[in-house]
Amino acid sequence: MSESQTFKNQVVLITGGNAGIGLETALAFARQGAKVAITGRRAAEGVTALKQIEDTGAEAMFIQADASVPADADRVVAEVVSKWGRLDVAFNNAGILGATGATHEYADAEFDKVLAVNVSGVFYAMKRELAQMAKQGSGVIINTSSIVGFRTIGPGMLAYHTSKAAVISMTRAAAVEYAKSGIRVNGVAPGPIETPMLHEVTGGHPDAFAAIVPMGRVGKPSEISDVVLWLASPAASFVTGQVIAVDGGVVS
Ligand code: NAP
Repeated sequence: MSESQTFKNQVVLITGGNAGIGLETALAFARQGAKVAITGRRAAEGVTALKQIEDTGAEAMFIQADASVPADADRVVAEVVSKWGRLDVAFNNAGILGATGATHEYADAEFDKVLAVNVSGVFYAMKRELAQMAKQGSGVIINTSSIVGFRTIGPGMLAYHTSKAAVISMTRAAAVEYAKSGIRVNGVAPGPIETPMLHEVTGGHPDAFAAIVPMGRVGKPSEISDVVLWLASPAASFVTGQVIAVDGGVVS
């Protein structure tokens, strides 16, 4: 995407913005003129990411917050609106993989933890973002699902698969509910993308996932942020309720 100022003075909130796909997307919005708020639990990574975003010349803020805590979700949207007066774009991207393991041995608490971040976390965020956007009569929400929301890529990840399928349903349901309110709700479903998460799941060998991708390689975070920025832009003004697989052809 060109370095135009498509998002000049727009207010963008990105959950899970201190690393990986979220940080790459924060930098892309910042380069196009947006004011960008990022969240995450780890403060040190948040401060480093904030500096990188500010180095583009953008106004930015880091809010230390846990996506699975409703009070944190309240505070995040309130801080953004109190500082910048509105919320134009929200990218609900915070997510965890959780432990992998056979379903008959999978810890109940681990299942609950994955759903708390990946499903309840998206609900807590969307609910508060939608309230603000409905007041404005405008806004765009983009949620991060995964190819595993559309199809199974292997054993041992039932909780993660379940959570990302729920993100697709939540995206579609919210899109229809708010379609007449000036709010568009869409999602991205990344294939394997080279981020700290992919390094973690492959024990430092992200290319291990290249074999499942028809293009024969894993993706770059910028290949997700390009699609997120398009979905957030006026070029996608008639697009709502869609979750776009960005995956080199895995979901095909
Ligand atoms: P990542 O490098 O591990 O980054 C995850 C981000 O989410 C970090 O900023 C992390 O910050 C934040 N986060 C995690 N739990 C959180 C919580 N409870 N509250 C707030 N923030 C939280 O992962 P990534 O690959 O960029 O993943 C981003 C999203 O893409 C996730 O939803 C993931 O499921 C999805 N995805 C990734 C891939 C892939 O191959 N990389 C494929 C499909 C989908 P803190 O740890 O500081 O909280």
